[in-house]
Amino acid sequence: MNRLNVPQEGGCRCGQVRLKISAAPIITMACHCTGCQKMSSSAFSLSAAIPAEGFEVIAGEPVIGGLHGATRHYFCPHCLTWMFTRPEGMDWFVNLRSTMLDDTSGVAPFVETFTSEKLPWVATSAMHSYETFPPMEAFGGLIQEFAERTASA
Ligand SMILES: [Zn+2]
Ligand SMILES: [Zn+2]
Repeated sequence: MNRLNVPQEGGCRCGQVRLKISAAPIITMACHCTGCQKMSSSAFSLSAAIPAEGFEVIAGEPVIGGLHGATRHYFCPHCLTWMFTRPEGMDWFVNLRSTMLDDTSGVAPFVETFTSEKLPWVATSAMHSYETFPPMEAFGGLIQEFAERTASA
C-alpha cells in the first residue's frame, strides 16, 4: 500500500479551513454506514486515523455538524465540507476525511466497515471487511499489519 506523505497540509472545498498533519495515520478506513453515506453525500466515508498530537487546524474555525452528539464531526463554516471527526472517548486520534489532504496518493482504505449497510454495487480495495466495526481485540493486529504494509512503500 502507498504510504501517506507527511508532513502535509489539506483543506476544505473553499479553502477557509486548512489543516496540517505531521504524523502518519495509524490506519486508513472506508465506512459504508448509512450515516456516512448521508454526511459524505456519497457511497462511503474515507478516514485516516491521525494521532492527535500530529493533527492541527492551521486556518479557519471548523464548526460541529452531523448529529451534534458525543462524537464530534467538524465542518467548514462556509462551504460546509465534512472535514474530520473526533470520536467519543478516543481523544488520542482524529479521523481525518482523507480527501481533505492536498496529496491523496496514500489514502486507500486498509479496512472497510459496515458492509452490512453498503450500497450493493460498491467495492473498495480494502484488505479487511467487517459487517459492522472490527471487534476491539482486532485493532492491535490491524494497526500492526497496516504499519508493516506501509513501511516500505
Ligand atoms: Zn470551506
Ligand atoms: Zn460510517
